[in-house]
Amino acid sequence: MNFMSTRASQLTPYVAGEQPKNADYIKLNTNENPYPPSPKIAAEITAAMARLSLYPDSNSTELCAAIASVEGLSADCVFCGNGSDEVLSFAFYAFFDTELPLLFPDITYSFYPVFAKFYGIPVQLLPLNEKFEINPADYHTPACGVIFPNPNAPTGMYLGCDDICKLLEYHSDKVVVVDEAYIAFGGQSMAPLIKSYPNLLVVRTLSKSHALAGLRVGYALGQPQLINALRRVKDSFNSYPVDRLAASAAKAAVLDTEYYQRTNGMVADTRGRFVDAITAMGFNVLPSTANFVFASHACMPAVEIFAKLKERGVLVRHFTAPRIENFLRISIGTDEDMDRVVEIMREIVG
Ligand code: PMP
Repeated sequence: MNFMSTRASQLTPYVAGEQPKNADYIKLNTNENPYPPSPKIAAEITAAMARLSLYPDSNSTELCAAIASVEGLSADCVFCGNGSDEVLSFAFYAFFDTELPLLFPDITYSFYPVFAKFYGIPVQLLPLNEKFEINPADYHTPACGVIFPNPNAPTGMYLGCDDICKLLEYHSDKVVVVDEAYIAFGGQSMAPLIKSYPNLLVVRTLSKSHALAGLRVGYALGQPQLINALRRVKDSFNSYPVDRLAASAAKAAVLDTEYYQRTNGMVADTRGRFVDAITAMGFNVLPSTANFVFASHACMPAVEIFAKLKERGVLVRHFTAPRIENFLRISIGTDEDMDRVVEIMREIVG
C-alpha cells in the first residue's frame, strides 16, 4: 500500500551534507563555523527557559529590532525564520509566480531547484562562465524573479554590488533575492542598499557567521512591503517558527558584533593560509570570499581524494553534478584542523 500523495511522490528532496554520529572526523563538509558561538548566549537561553510554557512572539519582534539596529534599518525591514532555508522557502512562495521562469545559476545552492519544484515555479538555469563566475548580463531576460547566493555556493565566488544593482534595475518589477549566507567572511553586503531598491531581499543565516547552525535562525532584510509578504506566508504555514530559546540566543549573538568580527576574521585568515598551502600541492582553488574553498587537483580525481580523506578521518563535500564533479568543497576549520588536513592532503596527492 502506498499512502503518499501524488504531490509528495513527485518531490525531489534536498540532500544535506552528512552529519556523522561519531565526532572523530575533522568535519569540513557543511560549512559550519569551527569556533563556539558568542559566550553571551548561555545566560539568555537560561532566562528564556523560565517562560517556555508561553508561546513565543510570532514575529520575533525583539530579535528583528536587534538585527535592524546592527544593520541600520528599521525593525519592519526584518523577517526572522527557522533557519534561512525556511526564509528562502517562504520567499519562493511569496514572490515567484508560475508564468515566467525564475533565474538562477546552473551551479548554485541545490535547495533552489527543490523549492521551485515544490511550488511549481518554472526555472531557467544560467550557466556560470568558464571561470565559474556569474555573468550578470545573462540575467537580462524576462523572469518572475532572480535568486543567487553571494558569494555563490559551492564556488565561494563573489559578485560585486554594482553588478547586483544593474540586475535590480533591469528586474525592477520583480524581486531579486540575494542569499548572503556567507557574506560575513569577506564580501560586501547589499543590506545598505535596501533603502534604494524596493525589489531587493537579502537573506542571511546565523548558521555560518554566528556559529549557530544547531539553533536554526535565519532572516530576511527588505522594505516593509516584502517583509509583510513573508509574514503573510509564515502565518499561513506556521505562526511561531522561531522558538523562545532560539530568539533569545540569536538576539544576544547578533548584538555581539565584536566577537563575531574577530572569529570570522580568523576563519578568513585561515582560508588564506590553507589556499596557499594546497595551491602549492597542485590544487586549482577558485577565489573564495566564503568560509569554504572549492578546489580541484590537476592529477587526481576529486572522488578519489574525497574517499582517501574520509578514510583518514577528514570529511569534505563532493558533488556529482556536471562541470563540478572534479571539485571538492572544503569548509575552513581552525588553524590546527587545517594544518592537519594539509598534511593529510600532501600524503594523498604526493
Ligand atoms: N543558503 C546557502 C547558500 C547555504 O549554503 C545554506 C546552508 N546549507 C543555506 C542557505 C541554509 O542555511 P540555514 O538553513 O542553516 O540557515
